[in-house]
Amino acid sequence: MKVLVLNCGSSSLKYQLLNMQYESVLAKGLAERIGIDGRLVHEVPGRDKYIAEKPMPDHAAAIALVLDALLDASVGVLKDKSEIVAVGHRVVHGGEHFTKSALITPEVEKAIEDVSDLAPLHNPPNLTGIRACAANMPGVPQVAVFDTAFHQTMPPKAYLYALEYAMYEKHKIRRYGFHGTSHFFVSQEAAELLSRPIEGLKMVTCHLGNGASVCAVDGGKSVDTSMGLTPLEGLTMGTRCGDIDPAVVAFLMDKEGLTGAQVNDALNKKSGVLGISGVSSDFRDLNTAAQEGNERAQTALDIYCYNVAGYIGRYAANMGGLDVVVFTAGVGENDAYVREHVCKYLGFLGIELDMDKNAKRGEPLDISAAGAKTRVLVVPTNEELVIARDTKAILA
Ligand code: AMP
Repeated sequence: MKVLVLNCGSSSLKYQLLNMQYESVLAKGLAERIGIDGRLVHEVPGRDKYIAEKPMPDHAAAIALVLDALLDASVGVLKDKSEIVAVGHRVVHGGEHFTKSALITPEVEKAIEDVSDLAPLHNPPNLTGIRACAANMPGVPQVAVFDTAFHQTMPPKAYLYALEYAMYEKHKIRRYGFHGTSHFFVSQEAAELLSRPIEGLKMVTCHLGNGASVCAVDGGKSVDTSMGLTPLEGLTMGTRCGDIDPAVVAFLMDKEGLTGAQVNDALNKKSGVLGISGVSSDFRDLNTAAQEGNERAQTALDIYCYNVAGYIGRYAANMGGLDVVVFTAGVGENDAYVREHVCKYLGFLGIELDMDKNAKRGEPLDISAAGAKTRVLVVPTNEELVIARDTKAILA
């Protein structure tokens, strides 16, 4: 059974083709600059990367080119399009409507459209991708897997903001949380790595990538998470500010003569560790700059680690205990400095790292010191695999 997994952005489209018999990746790639000019990077494990500059006026054209590459005699892996039995889509916002993945029907498309106000940058391109697939692969079932769905188990005390209740009733303003597919995957993997039933574990999973969020996972269920109505809330991120006094928005509009949309843009794109350091949003650059004595890069790293540790402590208090901390995504999987300096704050929770293990990369690993009460794991995330598994399960 071959499943195509798609993650459609406004001008890009990431894809993976998986053989679900073995859960193996047959091909993956990225179509980018859609609507501008068009560039396809296509990879098949064990073969040279194939790169093509080809016009992609819209998502339908991009998907047609991805299918061409998958079927190509020299760089392809399929003989016939009909080998793709289903398509799984990453959909960012499912609002309160979707608590799990769903087979895409006209009603589901409408429901995704209805919550587009909550994710205006993400849901519309996700829908465009769904419609482009329907045009290119008529009759092939499609499944939507939502970033928000895993967090729908949060109780009201975790998801409600202390605003006038009418704001929730009228506009559905509340915390939704994101990266749910990743938090779900790594929490399951962590329990497996420890050979312990997830039902008995209190975990904090830290998805630290370009965007970053922390999730309190109690007995396998999300009970709190750091991102909110949008992915701007919570941790300090690459270019997003995370938690700030909400009064800063009106203050900035007044002092800098900016519109609300301009402030929103600055908080999303010019803030975070990039904003503080003035160097980069990429932790490799930040680490290098800090080692070379750049004080603002060091301050950015200090703020970042302080905030992650703060959330872990907060969730340990809210859950009434902590058994496991999991690090994942680009920074969480690769940056030993960040893991070390987050964990330095957490000795009081029974956390202690094995520094040799913390220096390793690329495999699921328990990096805590022997005998430490609370385990710290690094688990590479795999959102595409979860999307493909859900797609397969829904079609079974
Ligand atoms: P993601 O969003 O999960 O793809 O993560 C991307 C981010 O991971 C990049 O912007 C970097 O900040 C970070 N990253 C990737 N590789 C490394 C590395 N070797 N060391 C530190 N950070 C890394």
